Amino acid sequence: MVDLKGQYEGVKDQVNSSISNILDSSAFINGPDVHAFQKELEDYLGVKHVIPCANGTDALQICMMGLGLKPGDEVITADFTFAATVEVIALLNLTPVLVDVDPDTFNIDVEAVERAITPKTKAIVPVHLFGQCADMDALMQLAQKHNLYVIEDNAQAIGAVHTSKDGSKQKAGTIGHVASTSFFPSKNLGCYGDGGAIFTNDDDLAHTIRGIVNHGMYVRYHHDVVGVNSRLDSIQAAVLRAKLPKLDEYNESRRRAAKKYNRAFEGQEHIIRPKTVNGCQGICETCDCHVFHQYTLRITNGKRDALAQHLNDKGIPCGVYYPIPLHKQKAYADERYNEDDFKVTNQLVEEVISLPMHTELDDEQIAFITKTVVDFVNG
Ligand SMILES: *Cc1c(COP(=O)(O)O)cnc(C)c1O
Repeated sequence: MVDLKGQYEGVKDQVNSSISNILDSSAFINGPDVHAFQKELEDYLGVKHVIPCANGTDALQICMMGLGLKPGDEVITADFTFAATVEVIALLNLTPVLVDVDPDTFNIDVEAVERAITPKTKAIVPVHLFGQCADMDALMQLAQKHNLYVIEDNAQAIGAVHTSKDGSKQKAGTIGHVASTSFFPSKNLGCYGDGGAIFTNDDDLAHTIRGIVNHGMYVRYHHDVVGVNSRLDSIQAAVLRAKLPKLDEYNESRRRAAKKYNRAFEGQEHIIRPKTVNGCQGICETCDCHVFHQYTLRITNGKRDALAQHLNDKGIPCGVYYPIPLHKQKAYADERYNEDDFKVTNQLVEEVISLPMHTELDDEQIAFITKTVVDFVNG
């Protein structure tokens, strides 16, 4: 699904020399690379504060702790996403409220969010799934109307650009009150272990969060709030520093691959291609709204599982993200949920399949993959 080795070749010299310097200096924790990476990412995103931490799941949890959410507060998020999002809500004894998604973008359905708002609702967590932003204009408007926080889960969309209805552009993860991201190796900006970060433009919240990631300390050995230990280590920061300058190029390679996939699947009766928010199908030459963390098709003639098996047999990696809606997971099932409210997710889990997507895909690979998919689906 990903080619980390191929990508490493392009940053090898810098990564190896930075890691070797860190080994020589023994500055493993809170070394200069961590601080430098923080600044470089702030500049790249155009956000006031980046707070590095240990992984994307911690980042989400720390966002919620930083906002002071309390047990019983309801947090609305998407039913169709990776479990980390709902997991941390539950861990903090907040009440997860899952809602359906949009069938075109796979992102949280804003009307479903609105219907789910109660007097206990405190926050909305849109997940910018597979690499493009949820409808942030509508979500921010809704949040303002109901006095809610918006926490962007930006683990899959770093570098994506969100264009508002007024034409203004912001990077994904800098629009809500606070955002989280993950630097897991297979993410669009991945390190060589675990890593994550929190972004915000709010000075007070940034201050609160800087203490939370460090055991609730604002002054050494004075623990003002209950915190956690969540750090990005120097070696991971050095890897990220080598890769950040190439992130736009990496995302452009993904978009190029997506365009080729899109062209090959054009006009296929049983294959729905991923739709981008501006309707250009990712084949417009200037589009920067989608960074294709995943390239996900919908197979509408019931052959998805058989296709996955066939691709495996042919040595083509593929993935089903995600096979089970969160509201049907044992850990998160709740009698309040009504199947009629999850029509889209329930259908998507039967139809979606993600094809190999990374920065090193070449034309020959794409031609082989697309021909294999088309022949099988129509066969
Ligand atoms: C990867 C991912 C996470 C979790 O990140 P980790 O660094 O693995 O903890 C959270 N949310 C989404 C949507 C993700 O894709």
